[in-house]
Amino acid sequence: MTKRFTDANEGFTCVHCGQTVAPSTRSCRNHCPHCFYSLHVDIHPGDRANPCRGVMQPIAVVTNTKKGFQVVHQCLSCGAVTRNILRFDDDTQPDSLDKALELMSKAP
Ligand SMILES: [Zn+2]
Ligand SMILES: [Zn+2]
Repeated sequence: MTKRFTDANEGFTCVHCGQTVAPSTRSCRNHCPHCFYSLHVDIHPGDRANPCRGVMQPIAVVTNTKKGFQVVHQCLSCGAVTRNILRFDDDTQPDSLDKALELMSKAP
């Protein structure tokens, strides 16, 4: 059964830390700004078309010359790896810079 979202940029409650995540005004956020966990719901960012619904664990933070900081997620259900842009300058709820630095320091 697939739940259809009418607004792809709505708020949600984090599956990992339980904090309420506000909808971002700047981007299509799919992860928690506190712990960076996400759910495998998108095929393309924001489309919510993926039936997997697995928990996406943040495994690394990388820098992209064009897009800036990106968090790398791996799905604990199907193993898919995706990237999502991090916003440290978000107006409503910026991504945690401390968490990003922690993940970067773990990177191989
Ligand atoms: Zn969280
Ligand atoms: Zn998945």
